[in-house]
Amino acid sequence: MNILVTVKQVPDTAELPKIDPSEVVSGNIKATQILNPWDEYAVEEALLLKEKFGGKVTAISFGPADAREGVKRAIAMGADAAVMLSDNAFNGSDAIVTGKLLAAAAKKLGDFDLIITGRSAVDGDSSVVPVALGRSLGLPMVTYVAKVREVDPDGKTLTVERLLEDGREVVTMPLPAVISVVKEINEPRYPTFMGIRKATRAKIPVWGTGDLGLDASEVGEAGSTVKWTNLRKPPARKVECEIIEGETVEEKAKTLVDRLIAEKVI
Ligand SMILES: Cc1cc2nc3c(=O)[nH]c(=O)nc-3n(C[C@H](O)[C@H](O)[C@H](O)COP(=O)(O)OP(=O)(O)OC[C@H]3O[C@@H](n4cnc5c(N)ncnc54)[C@H](O)[C@@H]3O)c2cc1C
Repeated sequence: MNILVTVKQVPDTAELPKIDPSEVVSGNIKATQILNPWDEYAVEEALLLKEKFGGKVTAISFGPADAREGVKRAIAMGADAAVMLSDNAFNGSDAIVTGKLLAAAAKKLGDFDLIITGRSAVDGDSSVVPVALGRSLGLPMVTYVAKVREVDPDGKTLTVERLLEDGREVVTMPLPAVISVVKEINEPRYPTFMGIRKATRAKIPVWGTGDLGLDASEVGEAGSTVKWTNLRKPPARKVECEIIEGETVEEKAKTLVDRLIAEKVI
């Protein structure tokens, strides 16, 4: 089974509150960069399927040429190969164009049975890219997969469980297909020492507009309908803190309950 997995480099979630919005707009984010945490589950599932059915796992990432933490981590975890999509013409791409770029790379790589994505990127957080990717390729696309139930590589079908608010939905689809996965699907492995060495030495090709057979008018700001005009943090909320005092735990608990009832919280 040949599997493509999409991986995005994002700012470390622990540092997100410290990021100045102007750094995001200029593309010059100073925070530590990591693999999007949701994509670790996508990489893990691809590796589990490869271990069961054989084949190859290839990671694809779109971002600045030096934004390699995503692809490097994927290789360190066990992916066989990776490709970066990077070109000045891609700047300002919205989520639909991002899906189109990843789709063009998948077409160029060819010979794949499944594409696995994370459920969302912790920075952009739209969850639009996986759907745009499936649509651009004209393939079945199933979101929020919490379990791969059955794979039939010969019959070319895949049965999965989708995690919904009020239960699970079982879906069978023909392959090739695109799925986005949620954290309930597996427990991502840590990279091995050998994997980290392999990632450090890996030659990762960089593909631009021409390599993907696209025109500059279809990508970046030119091809996007959604433009970021302003990015700002929501105003800080005024919070008042009250320490509940009392001689005993029971007294403190009673005072707390009285206060919660008075505030109509309970
Ligand atoms: C400098 C800058 C300018 C921007 N300008 C605009 C703008 O003008 N208009 C606009 O709409 N957006 C803009 N963006 C946002 C950018 O388009 C989105 O971050 C991108 O489209 C991905 O969307 P998302 O983060 O919501 O991903 P989601 O849809 O939440 O991601 C879901 C999954 O898709 C995959 N995925 C997503 N992105 C990538 C990627 N880059 N590489 C590989 N896999 C990926 C991952 O597996 C991820 O888990 C800008 C971003 C930057 C850094």
